[in-house]
Amino acid sequence: MKRFQQTVLLCLVVTFVAGGLLRSIARDGLPVTPKQAPGFYRAKLGAFDLIALSDGTAPRSLEQILSDPSLVRDELLADHEREPVQLSINAYLIKSGSHLVLVDTGAGELFGPSSGLLVANLISAGYRADQVDVILLTHIHGDHSGGLSIGGKRQFPNALVYVDHREVAHWLNKEEEQKAAPSARITFEQSQATVNPYILANRVIEIEGNSEVVPGISAQSAPGHTPGHTAYLVESQGHKLLLWGDTVHCAEVQFRHPAVTVQYDVDSREARQTRVRLLDSAATSGVLVGSDHISFPGLGRVRKTDGGYSWIPIPYTAAVTEIDPRP
Ligand SMILES: [Zn+2]
Ligand SMILES: [Zn+2]
Repeated sequence: MKRFQQTVLLCLVVTFVAGGLLRSIARDGLPVTPKQAPGFYRAKLGAFDLIALSDGTAPRSLEQILSDPSLVRDELLADHEREPVQLSINAYLIKSGSHLVLVDTGAGELFGPSSGLLVANLISAGYRADQVDVILLTHIHGDHSGGLSIGGKRQFPNALVYVDHREVAHWLNKEEEQKAAPSARITFEQSQATVNPYILANRVIEIEGNSEVVPGISAQSAPGHTPGHTAYLVESQGHKLLLWGDTVHCAEVQFRHPAVTVQYDVDSREARQTRVRLLDSAATSGVLVGSDHISFPGLGRVRKTDGGYSWIPIPYTAAVTEIDPRP
């Protein structure tokens, strides 16, 4: 190629690249990117390392999914919030002395592109999925167990999955699926598609009652939202964290009005009783709570108020610090 042609080609390439770069610069001079920073938040819990992991968010109309639409409208209006509300999907990684434990797995491929980010955020935090050796499920629902498998393939090939035996008996049971309303059958199908690969590999251990599952982490039955819905109490050197799954779906409403239920509850009456019990207990003890659908990282405490409760998020810290300084 002649030098002139080479020069013209080089100019075209430079123009093309620079043009693309310039197009990606906003008018205020900041790069345009549709993504947030990786979603992980580190803290210490005694001798354990804790990393809250974001799986992303899911837009939901609270008026449609909660049991008291007019109350929801009033609360959102008072909060200057608009529908749909973005619900976080959070999970929690605990590095104990003996295990790398993941509590819930996000939605995987089930909830669309704004979620399913857990493994990418796990990698950004410095771990690989094949290093996770224990998975604790608060319950089987697409946004908690969905991340176990993608396209039928186990995403955590070296993990044992612990889940309450009532979850297995309900969601992985063809007879229960036949009894369910047609609109609820998709949940059974998704549950089976994502959990069964672990059953087939003999990697599921069913939890029976309140018990220590791995050193420092014990299961606490919290039924209602699903038959075997489970909270996990993480304890190290006197520091405590309660990971309570779907005890609260919508912080905007269910702290002030814990009697409000969500349409995903299998037994709304029992779910309400469990929520009130756990809210009251958390408000009395001051235990630190990790909550799967409260705005990421979903870590905070509960305060009792006149007629209800409120959520006190932990203060953000730039350095990795003890998350529960009151053992
Ligand atoms: Zn759920
Ligand atoms: Zn959920």
